Amino acid sequence: MTYKPTPPSLDEIAAALQGYDPKALRADTVNAFLAKLVSPVQASEDVGVFDALDRVLAEDVISPISVPPHDNSAMDGFAFRGSELKAGQSTSLRVVGTAYAGKAYAEPVGAGECVKIMTGAVMPEGLDTVIPVEFTQIEGEVLSFAADVVRQGDNRRCLGEDLMAGQPALRKGDRIGPAALGLIASLGLPGVKVWRKVKVAYFSTGDEILSLGEAPREGAVYDSNRYTVFGLLKRMNVDVLDMGVIADEPKALEAAFRSAAANADAIITSGGVSMGEADYTKAMMKKLGDVAFWRIAMRPGRPMAVGRLEENGRSAALFGLPGNPVAVMVTFLAFVRPALLKLMGSEAPAPVYLKARSAEALRKKPGRTEYQRGVVTREPDGGLTVRITGNQGSGVLRSMVEANGLIVLHHDQGNIVAGGEVDVMMFDGAI
Ligand code: AMP
Ligand code: MG
Repeated sequence: MTYKPTPPSLDEIAAALQGYDPKALRADTVNAFLAKLVSPVQASEDVGVFDALDRVLAEDVISPISVPPHDNSAMDGFAFRGSELKAGQSTSLRVVGTAYAGKAYAEPVGAGECVKIMTGAVMPEGLDTVIPVEFTQIEGEVLSFAADVVRQGDNRRCLGEDLMAGQPALRKGDRIGPAALGLIASLGLPGVKVWRKVKVAYFSTGDEILSLGEAPREGAVYDSNRYTVFGLLKRMNVDVLDMGVIADEPKALEAAFRSAAANADAIITSGGVSMGEADYTKAMMKKLGDVAFWRIAMRPGRPMAVGRLEENGRSAALFGLPGNPVAVMVTFLAFVRPALLKLMGSEAPAPVYLKARSAEALRKKPGRTEYQRGVVTREPDGGLTVRITGNQGSGVLRSMVEANGLIVLHHDQGNIVAGGEVDVMMFDGAI
């Protein structure tokens, strides 16, 4: 029998955190809580190199070969013994042959001799230095170059310089990007072992939410959260289970939550978690799982529900996001994304924040974290400046479209003066 650890209950997680207050939770406490709520998937699979893009390694990749596999030339030029260089004197050598990339140069090279060599060609036996062609003159068979333009060992790439055989080339928990994909192939490996893909179910709630194709009606708005959440999840390369809009009605909600919990590793909902909501979403979450309802000291995105739902012996992490379109994206980026990365088995460090000068004064109350939509630009002096994208209302999706990052004004920070430095969480590939 395999040992399956019992995950901690929400109360146990809360008890282990300093200053946990569900009615005024700090943003950093949310991250700490979610890191305890989710645990990495356990199953792995072998995939070919092309299919490994954006997957997470389930084991270290040990290099079976040294890269490069032999000493070779870094330049087009002439290979010779560096011991023949004399300080302050020009060098003359007789050219006895040509070494091409991909072919071994087998002839012996004597004293006072050199070999014309192409970039990437194996260094002929005994030769250790390359003089680039642009520094040389040729007269008949005799090559010459000026004093002190190269030192012994220059322009040679050594065996194993990138990687020695038996060394880890990539680490378990690394997310595989284009560079890692190329590295895997450079080792001659046809594929790698990755964690299985995570599956995330999502749906929007609310009676005022229209699906595309429905006729507009008084007081109703088209569902945008379904599409932003879809896009955010696709960028993470998770499998998605799109459940559309679920009516604010106990039967429909119960069926949706049960089906999501039975089929997915995580569930993301939007709407229906604010205080004073007259709908059934919160009641159904409470009925079906171990769920906490939070008021987070942040803007936008104050209300949020998190927990676990069990169905058919499976457990899914629940992220009940607020309804406002910007709040959905901000809470996803700040909280859900790091939690999903952990679920995916990623051990990548959190992305670093950029420092930029605020183009304008920003009003900020200490005691909550604010995420303002910003556009970072480079100034002529090389410094980075960030300006906010107009209306910062939590329903104004346009502000997210125009932004290239979120200005993060931390919990204890107060007003920012014009020109003051702020942290920016760049969207990079996340959006
Ligand atoms: P709620 O969190 O349910 O109180 O919703 C807050 C605001 O977000 C309301 O104005 C909703 O109409 C709006 N909203 C909720 N869900 C969506 C959605 N899926 N797409 C667009 N707007 C939404
Ligand atoms: Mg609502």
